[in-house]
Amino acid sequence: MYDVAIIGAGVIGASIFRELTKYNLKVAVLEKEKDVSMGTSKANSAIVHAGYDPKEGTLMAKFNVKGNEMYEDLCKELSVPFKRNGSLVVAHSDEDMKTVEELCANGTKIGVKGLRVIGKKELLEMEPNLTDEVHGALYAPTGGIVGPFEYTIALCENGVTNGGEIKLKKEVVSIKKDDVFTIETADGEIIKAKYVVNAAGLYADKIHNLICKESFKITPRSGEYFVMDKSQGAIVSHTIFPCPSKLGKGILVSPTVHGNLIIGPDAIDMEDKEDLGTIGEGLDAIREASMHTTTKINFRESIRNFAGLRATPSTGDFIVEENDEVKGFVDAAGMKSPGLSSAPAVAEAVVEILDKAGLELNKKDNFIAKREQIHFMELPAEEKAALIKKNPQYGRMVCRCESITEGEIVGAIKRSFGTLSLDGVKRRCRPGMGRCQGGFCGPRVQEIIAREYNVKPEDIVQEKDGSYILFGKTK
Ligand SMILES: Cc1cc2nc3c(=O)[nH]c(=O)nc-3n(C[C@H](O)[C@H](O)[C@H](O)COP(=O)(O)OP(=O)(O)OC[C@H]3O[C@@H](n4cnc5c(N)ncnc54)[C@H](O)[C@@H]3O)c2cc1C
Repeated sequence: MYDVAIIGAGVIGASIFRELTKYNLKVAVLEKEKDVSMGTSKANSAIVHAGYDPKEGTLMAKFNVKGNEMYEDLCKELSVPFKRNGSLVVAHSDEDMKTVEELCANGTKIGVKGLRVIGKKELLEMEPNLTDEVHGALYAPTGGIVGPFEYTIALCENGVTNGGEIKLKKEVVSIKKDDVFTIETADGEIIKAKYVVNAAGLYADKIHNLICKESFKITPRSGEYFVMDKSQGAIVSHTIFPCPSKLGKGILVSPTVHGNLIIGPDAIDMEDKEDLGTIGEGLDAIREASMHTTTKINFRESIRNFAGLRATPSTGDFIVEENDEVKGFVDAAGMKSPGLSSAPAVAEAVVEILDKAGLELNKKDNFIAKREQIHFMELPAEEKAALIKKNPQYGRMVCRCESITEGEIVGAIKRSFGTLSLDGVKRRCRPGMGRCQGGFCGPRVQEIIAREYNVKPEDIVQEKDGSYILFGKTK
């Protein structure tokens, strides 16, 4: 019997999981996919928003501002890349300048620190590659960038270190409650838990409706992107937004924590919650829109397009509450943007809700806050040499684009919860994220995964079950 079962291993479920493992509790995350961070948390803009745009009084405002403040320390503890690069909301007209003033006033009222409106001269000094069309901007120094899947994976790994369980390929299909909850998964396993947290992202409405009265609907809204080679990574140093519209924050241009440039997303309402396709017209429109920000991007240096699906709630705000009728069932749902930025604060709030709902919370005295991950290229020369001496796998460079060693890949495999796919390794330590997109290192990584799990290379998949790379011998 678990004290708490969390449904969904995205950044929200993972944050709640890690927070709960600080206490003497039996906690599990049930995830339908074969890895964690396979939903919206793997495909988004990766911005830790400053928090100036959600309306006062919303949960989005409350959790974004607080979550942003918590990120830096958490990423240090968990060895995850994070940078407080600041963001700029750029005005292209006098009308836009009014919007920027309003955002500044709204943000200041809800507690965002350091906001100020700047004029064209200062803006172009900060970002000389912007177009001459700009009038001024809102400057938000607390805006940041993070590795979203690295962060989610790190939270899960640390939770496991602290005694929690990650149960993969466990799609929840039924939830009942007598004295406790009985959860059934698609493979027939029955799991008992005293409390249930619904962090199922796009499917949070479906999970809610398994046991509660229907009260909200989640609509998928797609956002497409370009990821550019590192040659384009320094075109801007802040995250640059246009003025927001009803559909969202608009097409941003931002450096990533790894030195690439990301451009997007658009906003297209969808019906299919699994459709992660990109379309040429959408990408053309993104390219067009980015020209109002900067004309310096060389789109021939695009190395990847992808799309993510926002879980847009019918309520217009995050839903973080215990259900009125089904006591002990807590929704952490409707996590559209800024859900990533808000995740640390949402996790604390959910623990408070569970506390009020009667969950006994006794802090562990042996909680291990730190998680180590070696980022070889970031080490000083003497530490690199010492590491190679201790473990020669760190002396073998597997991914030349991103400079990733065999030691880092083996480390990721050893820390993992299930059998990793090629993309699972890529999300953990980046082989295949560079210019050649795995063209050179992919087969080597495949060999390493097969060797470490003692299986045949033909058994290793790219991502989901069935996505085999090798089918048989040609010679
Ligand atoms: C285009 C785009 C851009 C964004 N940009 C930003 C940004 O820059 N900054 C920001 O703060 N936020 C951003 N967001 C929002 C942010 O990505 C989300 O708020 C966040 O990732 C949501 O996390 P989650 O854990 O709720 O959902 P997910 O990451 O989707 O996790 C839900 C998990 O539940 C699992 N699941 C579903 N059904 C079941 C079931 N029946 N049984 C078991 N498991 C199940 C899924 O497989 C999934 O792993 C963006 C989103 C999009 C789409």
